[in-house]
Amino acid sequence: MKTKVLIVEDESDIARALSYEFEKEGFLTRLAFDGESALTESRGWQPDVILLDLILPKLDGFSVCRALRNHSNAGIIMLTARTSEVDRVVGLELGADDYVCKPFSTRELTSRVRAVLRRMQEPEYPPSCLVSGDLELNAECHTVALRGRSIELTVKEFDLLKTLMLNKGRLLAREELYELVWREPLPVDSRTLDTHLHTLREKIEKQGPPAPRIITARGVGYRFDG
Ligand code: CA
Repeated sequence: MKTKVLIVEDESDIARALSYEFEKEGFLTRLAFDGESALTESRGWQPDVILLDLILPKLDGFSVCRALRNHSNAGIIMLTARTSEVDRVVGLELGADDYVCKPFSTRELTSRVRAVLRRMQEPEYPPSCLVSGDLELNAECHTVALRGRSIELTVKEFDLLKTLMLNKGRLLAREELYELVWREPLPVDSRTLDTHLHTLREKIEKQGPPAPRIITARGVGYRFDG
């Protein structure tokens, strides 16, 4: 199921450019060009995330945000040219999840959207102990053991394994996995992720078969199958 993004922006060039970029990234988008249609669309279409411009005809972004919070659980990211701290605080107090100032890059925005989606999906208290077959990861003590024998991992390797285990059975795109672990967008042409994955796998497989399986979808991402 594709993530639905409602783009609320009265400047149609910006709105259409955003829509194009988001669709290219695999999102489903719809456009609303004023505050009132933003509310109508959000009721009817039930988007997962709403990109909300601040200065809009009919109903401004703040009012839309306040009204949205009465009927929608969508993630709200406010878009604005204003940079003052007051706006930021007001926006967040009204229930926006994040705030992006113009001009922004699409890359920045898509990564913010993914971050908001992630926060919405994350359990409030993630489990401290993850178990998959003979593999045990304890997030509190920062230990990993396979069949009772501990495996020494670096911080990043540990975070990688934890993220993969939390998403067991789900293919994580390289960009997504990188952002989850490094907390920043995947640099272009970076092999950092793949190198860490490689050493993580080696350390696990050194314990002898059967080893938990981390599947590579070449050029796409990774999946932990347990
Ligand atoms: Ca505007």
